[in-house]
Amino acid sequence: MTDIATSTTTWSPDSWRRFPVAQMPSYPDPAALALADKQLAAWPPLIFGREAATLRERLAAVSRGKAFLLQGGDCAESFDELSAGTVRDSFRVILQMAVLLTFAASCPVVKIGRMAGQYAKPRSSDAETVDGVSLPSYRGDIVNGAEFSPEARMADPQRLLRAYSHSAATLNLLRAMAQGGFADLHEVHRWTSDFVRHSPQGERFEAVAQSIEEALAFMEACGFDASSSPQVKEVEFYTSHEALHLHYEEALTRRDDATGRWYGGSAHMLWLGERTRSLDGAHVEYMRGIDNPIGCKLGPNAKPDDLLRLLDILNPHNAEGRMVLITRMGADLLAERLPALIAAVQREQRNVVWCCDPMHGNTVTTSAGVKTRDFPRILAEVRSFFDVHAAAGSYAGGVHFEMTGQDVTECTGGAQGLTEAGLQARYLSACDPRLNGSQSLELAFLVAEMLKA
Ligand code: PEP
Ligand code: MN
Repeated sequence: MTDIATSTTTWSPDSWRRFPVAQMPSYPDPAALALADKQLAAWPPLIFGREAATLRERLAAVSRGKAFLLQGGDCAESFDELSAGTVRDSFRVILQMAVLLTFAASCPVVKIGRMAGQYAKPRSSDAETVDGVSLPSYRGDIVNGAEFSPEARMADPQRLLRAYSHSAATLNLLRAMAQGGFADLHEVHRWTSDFVRHSPQGERFEAVAQSIEEALAFMEACGFDASSSPQVKEVEFYTSHEALHLHYEEALTRRDDATGRWYGGSAHMLWLGERTRSLDGAHVEYMRGIDNPIGCKLGPNAKPDDLLRLLDILNPHNAEGRMVLITRMGADLLAERLPALIAAVQREQRNVVWCCDPMHGNTVTTSAGVKTRDFPRILAEVRSFFDVHAAAGSYAGGVHFEMTGQDVTECTGGAQGLTEAGLQARYLSACDPRLNGSQSLELAFLVAEMLKA
């Protein structure tokens, strides 16, 4: 039996099960799935509600135009790729980007990784056919394997437990790096990876790092003790992923003892994808009952009225810092489609953070069949996002990138001049193409200019 209006019924961590659920794999053995759910429910949450509440405060500052949001990471994390090196490289590029934005625009930057849990992927088709053989689509490592074989593509509930342990290992390292000295501003020179160091971006970053070092030395000479100040020694770093696999999310949902509020315990921020934001669907039902900050992707066909109804359901008290609207319309359509959404939000005085995902509306397939994104198109969408918000008197509050610190060749263009022919050299993503470390820095320099303007 399906309920009609999500906001009129009683919520519980499993109430989503009464609603139509999009993008869920079918498991051949439901008893094994239930067992995995039970195990996850017995393990500790990965984050505490209080941390998610602090992130809401930070995002409230963004919604008031007092800070900027930087969210980035892999399209899909991979069990096999997890290592200290991959996590460190992504973390330090995000730090570098954040430093550039803070330094150039004198604006605090809220840093959120698409990390430590980004293992579930929505797919446009349930099956993939290669040479006449049809198998279930790859849905992310939390569900099945990317390899094109019947064994790998079988949905395996044990993967839920592996997703948890890989997320815990990633988060453990992120917390250590954020608080244990790696992110200390005195270390800013060491954040550049070898392959970026000798690029024009690396050299430009070194100049900024030099200025920061001089500023710290000056402050210390004046008697300000920067070496023991948490603002200098540590960073606040948050995690996020698409809340797609509702068995996983339900099992990690916890009630905060102090406040009695429910929190998704798998990440600080969770988001609804473009394919799972249906008003009467299970994903919206799950999200409305947890108190974390919630993102929602909005593609070119998002309707202003649907957006307002979604905000009614997810943020009935219009709290600041609860909702992040992540537009991903494509460089060509954004200027035409975004103004109506902004106007609706302004008319009803809804508190939101507007964030630009310039990746998902600009994906193309090359003649050789490779999925890529062109750097100038990505930049064009970001530029258009800033222009449209400026024209509407609205605050362009953040950016959301698929990126990695590694030297991959997945997106064309940028100062490195990556061509379609060059994509095959180090194309490692099992899903969407990511900006590499050098392209990410280049984009941050350009966004810093826009933020300053
Ligand atoms: C993603 O962020 O990887 C994704 C699938 O995005 P969207 O829901 O916007 O298509
Ligand atoms: Mn993606």
